[in-house]
Amino acid sequence: MESSKKKKNVILLTVECLRADRIGTFGYEKKTTPNLDELFKRGLLFSRAYSASSWTAPCINALLTSTYPFMYDGDVTMNKRTSIAEVLRNNGYTTIGLPFHAYLSSFFGYDKGFDTFKDGIKEKGNTKEIDSNSEALKYKIRRYIRMKFYKFDKLFSAKEKSILYKIWTSVKILRIGLVISKIALLDKRKKYPKMGERLNKEILSLLKNAHQPFFLWAHYLDTHPPFLPPKNFSRDIGMLSKIIVNVKQRIAMFENKEDAFKPKDLEKLSNLFDMEVEYLDFWIKNLMGELDYLGLLKDTYVIITADHGTQFLEHGRIHNELELYQELVHVPLFIMGPGIPCKEIELPVSHIDVSPTILDLLNINKPMGLLGKSLLNNGMNDRGGIGVFCEEGQSERGEAFQTEPGIIKLNKESMKIAYITKNRSYIFRNNGEDELYDLIKDPRERNNIINEEREMAEKCLEKIKEHLKEITYKGKSKEIVNIKRAIKKLRYGKGRI
Ligand SMILES: [Zn+2]
Repeated sequence: MESSKKKKNVILLTVECLRADRIGTFGYEKKTTPNLDELFKRGLLFSRAYSASSWTAPCINALLTSTYPFMYDGDVTMNKRTSIAEVLRNNGYTTIGLPFHAYLSSFFGYDKGFDTFKDGIKEKGNTKEIDSNSEALKYKIRRYIRMKFYKFDKLFSAKEKSILYKIWTSVKILRIGLVISKIALLDKRKKYPKMGERLNKEILSLLKNAHQPFFLWAHYLDTHPPFLPPKNFSRDIGMLSKIIVNVKQRIAMFENKEDAFKPKDLEKLSNLFDMEVEYLDFWIKNLMGELDYLGLLKDTYVIITADHGTQFLEHGRIHNELELYQELVHVPLFIMGPGIPCKEIELPVSHIDVSPTILDLLNINKPMGLLGKSLLNNGMNDRGGIGVFCEEGQSERGEAFQTEPGIIKLNKESMKIAYITKNRSYIFRNNGEDELYDLIKDPRERNNIINEEREMAEKCLEKIKEHLKEITYKGKSKEIVNIKRAIKKLRYGKGRI
């Protein structure tokens, strides 16, 4: 009885780039996730869960704040949004955040609400200081350069900037090559805190001493490029070959020539990703075992998801961002803990719903401003015909950072919004090139049926229009977002949109 009255803890584990279709449970034929497959039988599994975007900052932001990326004028830092960590801290929870990711750093406000926070750049709270002095100095220098560059940037013409950009890109490619080889040569598993094994140690050392109840969020980065799985998880590929294929991927990406990536290299890269997934699968199992050993599982809800997916040229690109296809937005979502049934739910649900679910689990009232709905019984009742929305606001990589320091901002002019239902995905693009896919007949989204299903397309566009009204652009949307033009084209237009 005592244990049921005790306030429960929450552990939220997010995994980089872990697209749903690379997990055995969701049909992946290679046996790379035996432990996750077993684990997913022990709780509530959402087989059609969607990220709110296709890259780290807007995705994690939506997960932690239950708001859509384009709200707050597209600013996807934590500056103006309320984080679940704040809500829980105000309700007596010890809050620990371990993202180890520059986009999720305190520089962009992601430490908001966390008592203890580590982003690999700066640390705060009750943490062991690991090289923190030198890291803090590096952080300050980077920040200073960034701010200077911002002012500096305004002094040049577009042509001069394009020359400077080319020089900068070449230097960057060279630097990336050096960094990747350095990581590989030094054995990244020992050296970098982002790696699963090391992250587990951090989690466990903090949880052993944490005052309960606690909320811990940790972000696993292993499945983010460069893919350099350690020796015991690497098959049929040597270290040099691993480095070369990763460098090629980086160069192709920065030069915007991803479609020229050779099939042989693509296969290697994709296999390396699978090996990283396998490595991660092993360390998540290890963490679950340790939590059990510490007696924490009986009082703790564990949530596992990915921030977003990744691409291997399914639609002309490698890595994430920019698009909203299924390989980028369909993610695993799993909840286990005291009283949680073992069940699979096949209705589309969104990351927006995760924070309200946490509050529902802990019997804490949902503050105003959190848009999602709990994924527990009552919140699922009226979802039959409802779809989910995913948003992206960049037409080139890094566009969201071309603003003032400390801000990450989606660009309305580059807006894309996907509306995903049980059987369709509609992708609205502000440039007029909308797409509609039948997810049952064509789950890989190869055949755009917008001209064959104009009525359906129009229904989806109406939903997107309502969504836009709801999230932000009251009165302002018309001049920037060409949704009316898209509807007109569907009704009266000939040929493809
Ligand atoms: Zn990410």
